[in-house]
Amino acid sequence: MTDTDDLVQRHSAALMRSVPTPLAILDRGEGASVWDAEGKRYLDFLAGIAVNSLGHAHPVVVETLATQAAQVVHISNYFASRAQIGAAERLLRLTGAGEDGRVFFCNSGAEAIEAAFKLTRLTGRKRVLTLQSSFHGRTMGSLSLTGKPALREAFEPLIPGVEHIDSSIAALEAAMGPDVAALLLEPIKGEAGVVELPDGYLRRARELTHQHGALLVLDEIQTGAGRTGDWFAYQHEGIVPDAVTLAKGIGAGVPVGALVTFGATSDLLGPGQHGSTFGGNPLATAAVDAVLAEIERAGLVQNAKARGEQLRDGILGLGSPLIGAVRGRGLLLGVALTEPVAAKVSAAALELGLIVNAANDSTIRLAPPLIIGDAEVALFLDLFPRALEAAA
Ligand SMILES: *Cc1c(COP(=O)(O)O)cnc(C)c1O
Repeated sequence: MTDTDDLVQRHSAALMRSVPTPLAILDRGEGASVWDAEGKRYLDFLAGIAVNSLGHAHPVVVETLATQAAQVVHISNYFASRAQIGAAERLLRLTGAGEDGRVFFCNSGAEAIEAAFKLTRLTGRKRVLTLQSSFHGRTMGSLSLTGKPALREAFEPLIPGVEHIDSSIAALEAAMGPDVAALLLEPIKGEAGVVELPDGYLRRARELTHQHGALLVLDEIQTGAGRTGDWFAYQHEGIVPDAVTLAKGIGAGVPVGALVTFGATSDLLGPGQHGSTFGGNPLATAAVDAVLAEIERAGLVQNAKARGEQLRDGILGLGSPLIGAVRGRGLLLGVALTEPVAAKVSAAALELGLIVNAANDSTIRLAPPLIIGDAEVALFLDLFPRALEAAA
C-alpha cells in the first residue's frame, strides 16, 4: 500500500461521511502549482474553489500571517486591532460603500449569509426572494436561501419566508411587491455551474427593489475580490447594492467572511444583535487587508480580466466538439460540454496534472488564482484538450 492509499484510508475512517473521498493528498503549493504526497505536480485551476486568489505560498500571505501570529492572533471583540480597522476601511473603499457603509467580519461564506439573512428580518418584512439553483451555504439559514432542493430536502423544515424564484426578469417582476424584505442573489451562480443572469437583470433588480423598498443583497462570496475582472461583479453593471456578502477570495485561504452594508442598511443591525467569537480577529483581518492590498498593487483585477479573455478565446479556439460554450467572466469560467462527461474530463485532467472542477454533469468550472500569467494559460491549453480527448 502506498503512503497515499494509507492516508486516504485513514481519512475515510476518521472524517465524517459527508466529506468526499479526497482526489489526492496535497502537501504543498507554490504559485499556481500544488504537489501531492507522491511528489506529483498539478496546475491548480480551481484554487480551493475560488479561494486562493494569490495562489499558494504567496510571500505576502506567508509574511503577513507569520508577522501577525508573532504579534497577536486573537483578542475577542471587546477589543480591536489595527488589522481589523484597516481591512474594514479597505473593503468600504473597494466596494464603494464608503463612509456610510459598515463591515461585519465572520469566518465563512455561510456566516456572511446568516448575517445578511438576519439583517433582512430587521426590515420588518418577512419575504425574502432568492433564485432557483442558487447556492448560499450549508448552515440552516443559508440553506434556507439556497435554491437546490437536493441539498435542502433532508433538513426541512427550514426557515420560513424564503421563495426561490426562476432567474428570469419576468419572474422577478411577478414576485416583487411591497412585502418583500430583500432579494438576495449571486451575480453569477457559481455552484450551479457558472451561470450568468439574463442581460439587464441586476439593473432591473435594482430598480424594482428601490421601487418596493426592498433590500438588494448580492452574494459575491465566489465572484468578489477581483475574480470576475472587476473588484465586485455588480460594478460591471454600474449598480450599487444594499449589502454584499464576501468570503472565499478575500482571505486567500485564511477562513474569513464579511458582510458589507451600504447607506441606511448600515443602521439595521444594532448593538448586541449579532456577533462572532472569531469574527474579525487580527490574524484573519491582517490577511484580508494584505491580500486586497496585493491584488491592488499587482493589478490582479485587470489580470483576471485579461487572462479570462485569453482563456476563453483559447478554449473556444481548441475547436473540440465537446465544447459547447464558455460561460462566466474574468477568471470564473464554466466550460459547457456538449455531453454529460464533466466528471470524466476532470478525472482525466487530474491524471494529466491539471486540477479543474466538474461543477455539474456537463460543466467544467475554472477558477485559477488571479496571479496566473502566460505560462499557466499555455500549460492549461496544452493539458485541457488532452483531458477532453481522454474523456470523449
Ligand atoms: C462558497 C459559497 C458560499 C458558502 O461559503 P462557505 O464559506 O462554504 O460557507 C455561499 N455563497 C456562494 C456564492 C458561494 O460560492
